[in-house]
Amino acid sequence: MDCTATVLDSRYVTPTIKSIWLQLSNPIFSFLPGQSVWPRFERDGRKFSKIYSIASSPKRSPEVELCVSRVGWSSAYIQDLVVGETISVRGPYGLMTLNQLPKRPRLYVAEGSGIAPLKSQIDWLRDSGYSQPIWLVLANPETVNCLPYHDYWRSLQQTWRPFHYVEAIHRSPEAVLVAQDLDLSQFEIDICGVGDRVTQICESILAMGANPGQMRSEKFVAF
Ligand SMILES: Cc1cc2nc3c(=O)[nH]c(=O)nc-3n(C[C@H](O)[C@H](O)[C@H](O)COP(=O)(O)OP(=O)(O)OC[C@H]3O[C@@H](n4cnc5c(N)ncnc54)[C@H](O)[C@@H]3O)c2cc1C
Repeated sequence: MDCTATVLDSRYVTPTIKSIWLQLSNPIFSFLPGQSVWPRFERDGRKFSKIYSIASSPKRSPEVELCVSRVGWSSAYIQDLVVGETISVRGPYGLMTLNQLPKRPRLYVAEGSGIAPLKSQIDWLRDSGYSQPIWLVLANPETVNCLPYHDYWRSLQQTWRPFHYVEAIHRSPEAVLVAQDLDLSQFEIDICGVGDRVTQICESILAMGANPGQMRSEKFVAF
């Protein structure tokens, strides 16, 4: 679907990562938790397009949240949009989704803006009354000590019994996970982060006993 997206809100969730809420023009825009959109924009006479995961629950559509780390041209453009400005958006895309309530416990591991598609899933699971254990291990290698949405996750842990939140500060998420001593063979695991770090995290988690058939990952790469 092609839509016009109007910026509703734009605010920092770390010194380099922003949460940007968009109102989509198509009232029946639907997506699965974990999917992405391609915003298309023009700057200095150049047209360009990059893909961004939707960070909010599908139940909030046609309002969608993006979670964007400022690393280059496109991400700076999106971060600098002010409330009321519009861009074109096409989507949804992506396969690391949920199409029904999972039967197994869930483990999510994210670094930096890699939290985006996982937040969409976690918010949807909460909205849908999921009752299995659900763990989030969150790290931020870009801005140490600054974890996106950390207040939100801490408060969710207080109010939603199945949800467990673990912060990886000055340590890798893999190291933090070892300390939790979970039986990873029982979990469905989704991992998201930037570039080659995702491969490293996957390899470490497999070595801890995760079932490869129950593990998925998404890499944020620039192309
Ligand atoms: C399926 C998918 C979903 C994505 N979802 C998101 C998202 O929700 N939020 C988000 O911030 N980005 C996301 N990305 C990355 C996004 O599409 C752009 O690649 C990113 O914003 C960089 O574009 P740029 O023009 O700003 O920087 P460029 O000028 O293209 O330079 C990017 C350089 O910065 C480095 N880098 C540091 N952090 C990142 C990062 N997060 N992504 C890519 N490169 C990085 C890379 O080494 C790269 O060489 C996603 C990518 C994919 C493939």
